[in-house]
Amino acid sequence: MKEMLAAYAEVVGQDVIAHLQQLSRPLQGMKVVHVNSTRVGGGVAEILEKLVPLSNELGIDTSWEVISGNEEFYRCTKAMHNGLQGHRAPIADSLLQAYEEANRENADQLREQLEAADFVFIHDPQPAPLLGLCPNRRGRWIWRCHIDASRPYRPLWRYLRNHIAPYDASVFSLPDFTQALPHPEYIIPPSIDPLSDKNIELPEAEIDRVRREFALDPDRPMVLQVSRFDRFKDPVGVIEAHRLARKFVPDLQLVLAGGTATDDPEGEAVLQEVRQAAGDDPDVKVLLLAPDAHRTINALQRAADIVIQKSTKEGFGLTVTEGLWKGKPVIGGDTGGIRLQVVNYHTGFLVGTPQGAALRIRYLLYRRDRMAEMGEKARQFVRENFLLTRHLREYLALIVGLLH
Ligand code: UDP
Repeated sequence: MKEMLAAYAEVVGQDVIAHLQQLSRPLQGMKVVHVNSTRVGGGVAEILEKLVPLSNELGIDTSWEVISGNEEFYRCTKAMHNGLQGHRAPIADSLLQAYEEANRENADQLREQLEAADFVFIHDPQPAPLLGLCPNRRGRWIWRCHIDASRPYRPLWRYLRNHIAPYDASVFSLPDFTQALPHPEYIIPPSIDPLSDKNIELPEAEIDRVRREFALDPDRPMVLQVSRFDRFKDPVGVIEAHRLARKFVPDLQLVLAGGTATDDPEGEAVLQEVRQAAGDDPDVKVLLLAPDAHRTINALQRAADIVIQKSTKEGFGLTVTEGLWKGKPVIGGDTGGIRLQVVNYHTGFLVGTPQGAALRIRYLLYRRDRMAEMGEKARQFVRENFLLTRHLREYLALIVGLLH
């Protein structure tokens, strides 16, 4: 078997790989092109980096093209991203012109390849106009939206819809994220890569090293929330939950780990609120991590007894998937994609308040047997539903379905 397929087979099982091979049989030698606007950084690039070589190993001729533009193009696409997520601000005509112009220039470079492809995946709004710029396309085109587009700024959506409506299909991450379109829409949830630094198995020594680095006591229980310092992630509520839970588990340690987010003025303010709520409590550790601290996050998730994601609003919540994959029950806010992942009493608990979270912490730490059992189910649940191989399987099933 090819190298990457063999590596994934070790994690997900040979049967999953055999299923991928079976699905890709009618697609042998076909040309698939993915187009997005960044080679590195962000979840889309992370997924494509693995998905593209894996599809090639399956005998599908898959390539990945990245479009680029000038500063106005990026300003426009950033505004589109915000607008799709509900930010209500018009985008200047000059920026929209820069967006269309950048797409025209990229289309000149890519037209031959895109028109010849059997399937084209266009990721997010940045390259959406390419379809209209490839009049002799022979393949099927799919618009893949990774953004929560449930409540877009309407004038922006009307504009983008003109570019997106002619596609053959769209894919959204969650049912709540969709918009009505005149073609079939599919729901394909995100996934994590079990072989990435964030998720790969770690030697015990490395986990110990990270514990020592942050002065965490290996002999005392620890709960962890990893997230940006954002009010919707409710870090202050997590500190409150820890305070309440300590009445029953006095030696409980809490770690809140997140990035520095220098470009986010609100992040700085939330961090101050968190620091204030933590006070000088030595058992509440607020850790600022570098953006590439993937192995550190991995080690913290493995060091934790329970992972918390007490968001009051959430898209999918990849930190939940990551925690479950490490065999930890997750106590999660009852919202968004967390509901897909946390199955009450099976993979964790859904909660609405700090009091609820504290009760669940107590329950799990008093019932170590249940905790281990739920952790096992948690890992199995991710193995079956939220790994990269499932993501690829659904893409393959989708395009096989579009063949006819
Ligand atoms: N993450 C990170 N560093 C941080 C905070 C988060 O690398 O300081 C990662 C986290 O492990 C997860 C992703 O960023 O992979 C966050 O995704 P999620 O869907 O949980 O939340 P979002 O930040 O997209 O709202």
